[in-house]
Amino acid sequence: MADSLLITGASQLLTLGGRGPRRRNSLSDLGLIHDGALLVRDGVIAAVGTRAQVEALPEAHAAEKLDLDGRVALPGFVDSHTHLIHAASRAEEYELKIAGASYEEIARKGGGILNSVKKLRAATSEALKGRAMAALRQFAAQGTTTVEAKSGYGLDVASELKILRLHKELAAEQPVEIVSTFLGAHVVPPEYRGKADGAERYLKLIEENLLPEIGERRLAEFCDVFCDRGAFTVEQSKRVLQAGRQWGLAPRLHAEQLTRTGAARLAILLRAASCDHLEHVNRSDIRALGKSQTVATLLPGCDFHLGLKRYAPARALIDAGAILSLATDYNPGTSPTLSMPMILSLACAQLRMTPAEAITAATINAAYALRREKQAGSLEVGKQADIAVFEVADYREIPYYFGVNHCWMTVKRGRVIHGVKQATL
Ligand SMILES: [Zn+2]
Repeated sequence: MADSLLITGASQLLTLGGRGPRRRNSLSDLGLIHDGALLVRDGVIAAVGTRAQVEALPEAHAAEKLDLDGRVALPGFVDSHTHLIHAASRAEEYELKIAGASYEEIARKGGGILNSVKKLRAATSEALKGRAMAALRQFAAQGTTTVEAKSGYGLDVASELKILRLHKELAAEQPVEIVSTFLGAHVVPPEYRGKADGAERYLKLIEENLLPEIGERRLAEFCDVFCDRGAFTVEQSKRVLQAGRQWGLAPRLHAEQLTRTGAARLAILLRAASCDHLEHVNRSDIRALGKSQTVATLLPGCDFHLGLKRYAPARALIDAGAILSLATDYNPGTSPTLSMPMILSLACAQLRMTPAEAITAATINAAYALRREKQAGSLEVGKQADIAVFEVADYREIPYYFGVNHCWMTVKRGRVIHGVKQATL
């Protein structure tokens, strides 16, 4: 078997090459090469350029060859916000929402996140793993090669650790890269509710029992908090994220989704990797995000599924200079999709982003949100060969079509993980 792979025939090769996270006008710079080619060695990109440039390399002659026949190639999507592990759908709540019940009304009736908590605690590891495996195959089939995964449906020591251990097992046993996040502070669990010191006692459990175990066993890279009405306050979120940092977990935050709480400001203050949602940011938050290194991750799938009219102010964030990223927020309650192409369609139609901006937000900027910018998010020499190939002739057709999957092939670290040609390297 050849030890290198020559990929040619990309009518458009979107490299996303360049320095630093993309802001403002540079969000539109896809590093597009017409008739592009890649040389992959040991799962890493060894050369990138036009077909003529790459074919001229001595190593290209002996390489295994793959012709894309005019299709479009780009970096595999980096989905920087998912709740991968959960036990079941919440289709029964979907009907209540359509009938007009709000997200918070459903939560008060024991639905919402607590419904998923009940189901997860009752589920076996095997069942959870099987469901997650099936989801990961779907992620790969839609062009995604890296997925962030949050805990947060366990909310007791055994169940949270069960989820985080599964992240580790899944990372080792299937090809899609998994970045593990601890979201113990998702909501106050049922057994702590209705008591004056309930939230306080649960925060102590996180600080004294969960974080030490997670830190010592390296079960997560990031610590996240749902900072919103009905979840945790800014003060409580700060406390959890600072405690997480003591155990080596970098902060990220669910911010300004249902109401404006000041969570985006907290994320900036703590130099969080990202703050996500942002439907309710105000003008001064937007200005502050424009100046910060904290990635602003937008999750339009959530607003779409809930039938909300208010999406995050993407254009104002771009104009202010924020580092914008896009993710699915794959979860059973508010965003049951694992399709980044669908998210790109929503970003264009609802957030008024251009196809080029949306692709940048779903690749290189998303890699920054997960601190994977040195390995993923662009097709450059030395980076992982994480590639998505679409059955289209123009990259704008990726968001233009919706509800159809045009992903023709997905490659992770040089290995075909989805597609017609199951070649391996
Ligand atoms: Zn979320």
